[in-house]
Amino acid sequence: MLELPIVRCPSCKGETEMDKRVITAQSNQNIIFTCLFCGYIERNIETSKG
Ligand SMILES: [Zn+2]
Repeated sequence: MLELPIVRCPSCKGETEMDKRVITAQSNQNIIFTCLFCGYIERNIETSKG
């Protein structure tokens, strides 16, 4: 099993695995992160992938 990258919410500093619960990938390759803890939404977040 590969470990999922961890993303940290810039608002509440909560750390979450980058999975389908928190990441929405759009057709234009934008990625939207929604924090599970505070509901903060960040577009075009940077990932450790690539
Ligand atoms: Zn948050």
